[in-house]
Amino acid sequence: MSTIIVLMGAPGAGKGTQARLLQERLGLPQISTGDIFRALKHAQTPLAQEVREIMERGQLVPDDLTIQLVKERTARDDAKDGYILDGFPRTPAQAETLERLAAEQNKQIVAIQIDVPYDLLEKRMTGRRNCPVCNEIYNIYFKPPRHDNVCDFHPDAQLVHRGDDNLETVRKRLATYDEQTRPLLDYYASKNLLRVVDGNRKRESIYQDIATVVSDESEEVRRVLHDHR
Ligand code: AMP
Repeated sequence: MSTIIVLMGAPGAGKGTQARLLQERLGLPQISTGDIFRALKHAQTPLAQEVREIMERGQLVPDDLTIQLVKERTARDDAKDGYILDGFPRTPAQAETLERLAAEQNKQIVAIQIDVPYDLLEKRMTGRRNCPVCNEIYNIYFKPPRHDNVCDFHPDAQLVHRGDDNLETVRKRLATYDEQTRPLLDYYASKNLLRVVDGNRKRESIYQDIATVVSDESEEVRRVLHDHR
């Protein structure tokens, strides 16, 4: 049975970084609802405008829209052998939908919490910068690029600071997480579906722990990892 890897954890915990590594190394698509919403940045429709405003306020996009997007995205052909969810589910209704989807798609869920102390999260987010070309994630405090504000791999690309990574929005996003998403950890733990990894280490060490968890749970992933050795 193929696997849905659900990366959980507060904003700034490193879900995007780990999802990208898993995508590169396991060949499963990374499905990030935040990236999908950010891609609406230039769309000139009332719906896109509403999503932008919600994100700027650090709130959650309504469940019906989010769920619809995830259903469509996970139905695509590249997701048939499993996929990585980054930023979904974030509410109980989304978690229920995911269980239904998993049953319909004949997939098992493995939820992995990347655990990072709260006091580090603000700096992780306000310091975060992305390459607009390859999406590499930097941090001006913890992982600066070699040259100021320029991607190590794309010297012509100026790094981008996400609009919602300013201190005011970051604090709201953390509060939203606390109220609406953190309770899902208990939900997955009570179903014995949650594994926790220490996210306050180097990205490779965190990746190794995640890969071990996933391979313990999934025969198919075990095979891919074995073939890569
Ligand atoms: P992220 O990149 O995961 O931190 O998401 C950025 C923003 O996109 C969030 O602060 C929300 O406004 C919105 N968003 C992302 N994923 C979801 C979701 N599953 N449900 C509702 N809103 C979401």
